[in-house]
Amino acid sequence: MGSVQVDGLIKKYNDVTALKNVNIDIKEGEFFALLGPSGCGKTTTMRCIAGFENPTAGNIYINNKVVNKIPANKRNCGMVFQSYALFPHYNVFENVAYGLTVRDFNTGSFGKKVSSFARLMSKRLAKPTKEIEKKVMEVLEYVELGHLAERGVNELSGGQQQRVALARALVLEPSVLLMDEPLSNLDKKLRNTMRTTIRRIQQEVGITTIFVTHDQEEAMSMADRVAVMKEGEIIQNATPTELYSNP
Ligand code: ADP
Ligand code: ADP
Repeated sequence: MGSVQVDGLIKKYNDVTALKNVNIDIKEGEFFALLGPSGCGKTTTMRCIAGFENPTAGNIYINNKVVNKIPANKRNCGMVFQSYALFPHYNVFENVAYGLTVRDFNTGSFGKKVSSFARLMSKRLAKPTKEIEKKVMEVLEYVELGHLAERGVNELSGGQQQRVALARALVLEPSVLLMDEPLSNLDKKLRNTMRTTIRRIQQEVGITTIFVTHDQEEAMSMADRVAVMKEGEIIQNATPTELYSNP
């Protein structure tokens, strides 16, 4: 499961119209790139899909269900950002375990006596269950970071940090993976390696992925389908092969 449709999406911020009329149809398992220059509306489109922004008009469907009124934490979208947004005081394992532990906590599996506020304010993560530990280690092995589980995230390279961010998203088994410029903080060599890594993992897991980038070559080399955005609209939507033969 993991199809995404965006239907007549409009987003206005006061007098700025960020999205004029965006329509997207993403099939289950597809790697879909949103390509365009800075300010064209890529991030706004993603944020509307993830539920961090309310559309001014239009509908978002995930798995053929309208999700407009469903809050972000219930939409089952995994996010990876340009700046990774890792928790600096947690090690690699804790960063990846966080989402599962909090979910467990919120559903009352443990820690009932501690208020969730106290829990969130405390510096360390609650001890994860054996089940969570197993799952986190599996995902860490998968992104080839098992040996660095105990390492502080600030001691990692950019590519390693990005793999932690990817693991943190994947461990929750989202139906859609949203990546916003995930490679633009990496140097060129690492960027190329990470293209391959991300694409391999995406295909193996089979997860529907929306990948935001301003880099045409990156979009063309990675995606099944590329939507080109300009000034709040999609002006082209085709496979890389079609775009190469009809630019
Ligand atoms: P991109 O991701 O393609 O760089 P964005 O979606 O971030 O583009 O921005 C699209 C347009 O919407 C830009 O003109 C930007 O300044 C504007 N915008 C984005 N977020 C906000 C906001 N929270 N408030 C006001 N304007 C915004
Ligand atoms: P990107 O180009 O990757 O979208 P930005 O630096 O443009 O990154 O935006 C970062 C954040 O700031 C986003 O959450 C976006 O919604 C918000 N933002 C962008 N433009 C504006 C703006 N003009 N006013 C307020 N918030 C904005």
